[in-house]
Amino acid sequence: GNQTRLQAIDQITNRAPLSFNMTEPLNQIWATDVFNLQKMEEAISKKAYKAIKNTIQSGAALDNATADIVAAAMKDWALSKGAKFFSHVFYPMTNITAEKHDAFILTNSEGNAINEFTGSLLIKGEPDGSSFPNGSLRMTNAARGYTAWDPTSPAYIQHTANGATLMIPSVFMSWTGEALDKKIPLLRSNAAMNDAAQKVLKLMGETEIADLNSSAGPEQEYFLVDSNFANARPDLLLAGRTLFGAAPAKGQQFDDHYFGAIPARVQVFMQDFEDKLYRLGIPAKTHHNEVAPGQFEIAPYYGAANVGADQQQLLMTMMKQTAKEHGFLCLLHEKPFAGVNGSGKHVNWSVGNSTQGNLLDPGKTPHSNLQFLLFCGAVIRGVHKFGPLLRAVIASAGNDHRLGANEAPPAILSVYLGDQLEKVFEEIKTGKLTCSTDGGEMDLGLSQILNFDRDPGDRNRTSPFAFTGNRFEFRAVGSEQSVSGPLVAMNTMLADSLEWIAGKLEEALKTQDQTAAVITVLKELMELHGNAVFGGDGYSAEWHKMAVEERGLLNLPTSADALPHLLSEETKGLFERTGVLSPVELESRYEVYAEQYNLAIEVEAKLVSDIATTKIYPAAIAYLSDLTHASATSIDLGIELDSSVAKKVAAHINGLMTAVAKIDSEVAKHDFADTEAHMRHSADVICPLMAEAREHGDALEMLVADDLWPLPKYSEMLFIK
Ligand code: ADP
Ligand code: MG
Repeated sequence: GNQTRLQAIDQITNRAPLSFNMTEPLNQIWATDVFNLQKMEEAISKKAYKAIKNTIQSGAALDNATADIVAAAMKDWALSKGAKFFSHVFYPMTNITAEKHDAFILTNSEGNAINEFTGSLLIKGEPDGSSFPNGSLRMTNAARGYTAWDPTSPAYIQHTANGATLMIPSVFMSWTGEALDKKIPLLRSNAAMNDAAQKVLKLMGETEIADLNSSAGPEQEYFLVDSNFANARPDLLLAGRTLFGAAPAKGQQFDDHYFGAIPARVQVFMQDFEDKLYRLGIPAKTHHNEVAPGQFEIAPYYGAANVGADQQQLLMTMMKQTAKEHGFLCLLHEKPFAGVNGSGKHVNWSVGNSTQGNLLDPGKTPHSNLQFLLFCGAVIRGVHKFGPLLRAVIASAGNDHRLGANEAPPAILSVYLGDQLEKVFEEIKTGKLTCSTDGGEMDLGLSQILNFDRDPGDRNRTSPFAFTGNRFEFRAVGSEQSVSGPLVAMNTMLADSLEWIAGKLEEALKTQDQTAAVITVLKELMELHGNAVFGGDGYSAEWHKMAVEERGLLNLPTSADALPHLLSEETKGLFERTGVLSPVELESRYEVYAEQYNLAIEVEAKLVSDIATTKIYPAAIAYLSDLTHASATSIDLGIELDSSVAKKVAAHINGLMTAVAKIDSEVAKHDFADTEAHMRHSADVICPLMAEAREHGDALEMLVADDLWPLPKYSEMLFIK
């Protein structure tokens, strides 16, 4: 036990960075592993190219003939890159990325090997769905589902130790058409948002309106820990976070020292990782400006939400893989180290098109200002009306440790607009900002947002949902999560709000000019939903009180509190109205997410019991035996040793094992009335018991002789690289 830890320290001190030279210039490696439109244009006929481009850009169905042509070109390209396999990549309801590999090679009737890959293989692959959690859908449908290429997301080559594979981003659905994945709802939510936005823009007098798309720019935080340390920590390996570990004497107060020099090994990892991402056409830049030691960030440039979500999944996979090659374990968990800053994902989100541009950009004209205010108002209404949904889509066992932990956004959903914009909406609400009825030049005080200052968003880091100048930033998302759920929630709530606005606007326009009508609609919107707007300190106790007692917002601290809101009438109605998820599809998601939550906590509880019993207890007993032995020998010599340390050690050993016994018996319980009751048990019984065990374990770490301690310590994992 303890030998592993001491050897790890020894070995790591002598580790050298991998040699890596990024010799090729960016323009020569950029997207070389992606079968994008440009490569298709070079490879296929003009007619087929036109058809596939139409599919990609406006979602038109892909006909069989074109699918065959694209498949042939894709196969030739993949073979030229050395690929022997292809795989549909899909995104089940768990946060993982799933793959279904097949070889290009088939044998024909003469017994010769041929490379076969037809349009039908491209648009329909058949994974065995039975092993993917699919909630109640498992009951109602055949266990098997099928995958089909999402042509809006390009295929690419993934290089692994086994060679190159053509990867085909796909949807995953049941034979009866239910979405079994995270991609289908995202595509549907985008379509719903587009429909509703078209209505509003038409009412605003726009005549040429291209399809609207949502954009996503996710910032990803992560930790790197040397793999030798990780190998000696079953909790890090199996649960992704430390279940024991005393706070280091050298904590975050040393961060400025730390950032002076990124360890050479980390720097080399980052270069290698960026190089791989560029080949995959992912425009990412690594940063090292995070708060905690050992923590880093990577932020790809934003793009279409659907492609962005796929790339985010790929990025997480690549990050773990590359880290491993460099001798690190990459931790995406939201709270790997207690008492140390956690990791989140900021999902930057906007909606726009080629004709009106970004609709969350205030723009430079009074007209674009009005449109901006409508879309911004739609977001405010969405956050207010569907706050519990926004909380539910970021719920996970890991993220519960972070939300509301006074270093991360609170578990209460509010929206931060920045001083200037908040004032505009406040004036609309109170009627201060009214319209002159003479039909002349608009003078609404709107000029104050014509020269809108871009708020970098840094002014209020305590908000879970912030306007940052030309986009909203959803900051409460977990670092380990897929960004799809949050994007679905944002697109869908926007769709619903824009529908509402379109209805109100149409009415108002019957009697008022456009500007007056917009202000009328926004006034009503703010009266109903202005309570979600908050610019103060989101971490403060006053806000927690005010939000709940005066504003009627919900504080949902754990997943057990949040996930049931997926089944509320409000949420069901939203998804049904917009056509994004049927009630059955929604219920299946609730079941899967709840199961994931319970499972994560069960795994942790079992690990706590195991580590306490097989690692901490033996070390503590060995130390106690040393102490008592020394004490007995001393008495023989007429020396009386102070026994306070031995007594403390003994007390914590007993405390630890008492907690473990309770954990063991509680974890064995499985007869719950329903999923919600099971989640409550996880949150209210198991979690506090794990905390109780940890308190004693961490106290022992501070008492037991260093050379006996089996688990790598925080100071080692965070500072030695
Ligand atoms: P910060 O840390 O200040 O939030 P970063 O530059 O690290 O800023 O990340 C900002 C992210 O927001 C990037 O991924 C960027 O591409 C993205 N982004 C910028 N503009 C938009 C937009 N209009 N819509 C969506 N994402 C955007
Ligand atoms: Mg940010």
